[in-house]
Amino acid sequence: GIVIENISKHYGSFRAVDEVSLEIKTGSLVALLGPSGSGKSTLLRIIAGLEIPDAGEIWLVGENATYHSVQERNIGFVFQHYALFKHLTVRENIAFAMDLRKHPKHRIRQRVDELLELVQMQGFGDRYPSQLSGGQRQRVALARSLAVQPRILLLDEPFGALDAKVRKDLRVWLRNLHSEVHVTTVFVTHDQEEAMEVADEIVVMNQGRVEQVGKPAEIYDNPATPFVMSFIGPVN
Ligand code: ATP
Ligand code: MG
Repeated sequence: GIVIENISKHYGSFRAVDEVSLEIKTGSLVALLGPSGSGKSTLLRIIAGLEIPDAGEIWLVGENATYHSVQERNIGFVFQHYALFKHLTVRENIAFAMDLRKHPKHRIRQRVDELLELVQMQGFGDRYPSQLSGGQRQRVALARSLAVQPRILLLDEPFGALDAKVRKDLRVWLRNLHSEVHVTTVFVTHDQEEAMEVADEIVVMNQGRVEQVGKPAEIYDNPATPFVMSFIGPVN
């Protein structure tokens, strides 16, 4: 899993992430939930290795990864505006990382077929991103992030830009995908309902700090702080 130990990240005197400690179990599906500016993306980027913390340690699968490069961490990520390569087909987009690593051609073809099936995009392999809907593009982006079999999957508001109906479909779909692939997954959202519906466990963040960690029902029934109460509560 992922162990986050006393992580802080400051921008000048502003504490974007403030002494966060957290343990994410192997194979779990966890939501980082909080309002805009609460430090969710910063924490996710630190886990990914895209940002170096000012203090604290990140342990991935039992190894101190605090100073490991992005590549060494073997993490898949999808960001909200994660653009696919426009000039490559769906198939070529998914194969990209495997091509870079010079995997054998037949092996790549087979893996891409598996991934297209996993994200329910069989028959779309030869299309270009411009010929797909927003939800389909996000599914291709997920397939691409899974191509090199990451140990950890990080999703930053992957469905943020999509309309309500598509978002709802993708929530169900992400849960199903997770139950098939079982990769440790952390996804960021500021949508309470999304976190409640999708996650095994929710981490509520506010002003760079963790307010509460728990299963959706635990947090809903027993909010630990006034902030959690007002942010999660039935009336807000
Ligand atoms: P949102 O829901 O709006 O995406 P978030 O919870 O992901 O918000 P972060 O992007 O982690 O929030 O930002 C946390 C705080 O740190 C914000 O107040 C932001 O303005 C600040 N911040 C983030 N990156 C930088 C930076 N490079 N320089 C200065 N301040 C930054
Ligand atoms: Mg963010």
